[in-house]
Parts: sequence; structure tokens; C-alpha cells
Amino acid sequence: MRRPIIAGNWKLYKTVRETVQFIEQLKPLVQESKHCDIAIAPPFTALARAASAAAGSNIWIAGQDLFWEKEGAFTGEVSAPMLADAGCQCCIIGHSERRQYFSETNDMVKRKTQAALAAGLMPIVCVGETLAEREAGDTNRVIRIQFEESLNDLTVQDFFRIVIAYEPVWAIGTGRTATPEMAVEVHKQIRQLAQQRFGAEASRELRILYGGSVKPDNIKGLMAQVDIDGALVGGASLKPDSFASIVNF
Ligand code: PEP
Repeated sequence: MRRPIIAGNWKLYKTVRETVQFIEQLKPLVQESKHCDIAIAPPFTALARAASAAAGSNIWIAGQDLFWEKEGAFTGEVSAPMLADAGCQCCIIGHSERRQYFSETNDMVKRKTQAALAAGLMPIVCVGETLAEREAGDTNRVIRIQFEESLNDLTVQDFFRIVIAYEPVWAIGTGRTATPEMAVEVHKQIRQLAQQRFGAEASRELRILYGGSVKPDNIKGLMAQVDIDGALVGGASLKPDSFASIVNF
């Protein structure tokens, strides 16, 4: 039985003070939520304080990105060991906004995933097609290439430690959600790719999250699908009440 994960991606929102306030408000709302893992991904500046505020609770702290080198002359970058040192347990990798605005490639996603694993972080690796790709009937090919180019080089052991988030780009921040059936079709494909490359057990254990305009009113329908193992939530993760009602679907 796969344990669901509900993760909040805050993107470029919230100061340190707002982050701590959010966590203090969220804690009592989810302290009895034993049915899933819970993570939030604040901006880099707030990670260490977020981790202190969440210490001892059931809330994990995630980075939104990382750089694959441990240290060096890479101005502006933050490494996986630095995230772990700040108190993170996981990190989002390859979010479509990174691919779209910061030219991230599948090869970069691969290096970042490997760096996260080496630092003991759980990578949440994002894949997903654009609207043009979906309309051209290219969804399966795009997902397969993203999977193969960013994940095929992992060891089976490491594959057990990753989470994949299927995030159709056209559904992120647009209010357009994939129907549960549309999401499931791609989740099944991802599980099949995992089985072909990493074997039946790794595929069975793999947690695949859906992301794209998840809200308190559509989470139930998504989580009713056996192949959907949780959600990566953007906008609706910015308010404790709304995020907590997604967690407590
Ligand atoms: C995201 O940022 O990963 C996301 C899915 O955003 P939203 O929920 O706002 O669509």
C-alpha cells in the first residue's frame, strides 16, 4: 500500500515571518493526519526557519530546486547538502516553471535528482506535457522522454527513494485541472515505464503525485483513483485552511 503525499509548492511567495506563521497555523490542523506524508516547499530564504518551526511535527520541508554541485564558484546556486543542512527532507526537481523560464533540461533534472539522493533528500521529480504537446497527441512520447532522460540512469535502489509528480503544464496555475481519468492514464504510463526499467516491485512502490490546479473541491475525486498517490499543490497551498483541507481529503 503506497502512502499518499500531499506537498505544497509555494513558488515565489512568503517571507520568513509569513512562513513561520503559516506553519504554526497549519500544525494543529494536520496533527491528526496520519494517513499521508505532508511537505511544504517555501522559498530558499525561509527554509531553515521553516524547518525549526516544523520540528517535531508531521510536516516535512522541501526545497523548490537545487544545484547538482556540492559547492564551488556557482553564484546564486544552492546545493543539496545545503538544503539538508537547512533541515529539508525533500526537494522538488524539474518543475515546469524551471524548465520554461530557466531552460532546465532533462539532463539537468537527472543531475539534480542524483545530487538530491546523494545528500539523503527525497526528490519529487516533475514531468508533464504542454498544451501544444497534448493537442498534437504527443503526451505519451513527451512523458517517456522525460522519464528516460532524467531517471533511467538511476540505480534500482535509488529509484525506490524518488517520487514523481505528473504535472500537465496546461493545468498549472490555470484553474484547469486534468480530469481524474486523464491523470490516471499518464500515471499508468509512468508506472509502466518504471516497471520496464526498474522492475515490478519498484513500479508498485513508486508514488506518483498529480499536480495542476488541485483544490479542496477536486482533491477527493483525484485521490479516489488507485494510481494517484497524492498531490503537488501550488496556489491552494498558500493558505493553511485550504492546504489542510487538501491534506485531510
Ligand atoms: C505547482 O506549482 O506545482 C502547481 C501544480 O500549481 P497550481 O496548483 O497552482 O496549479
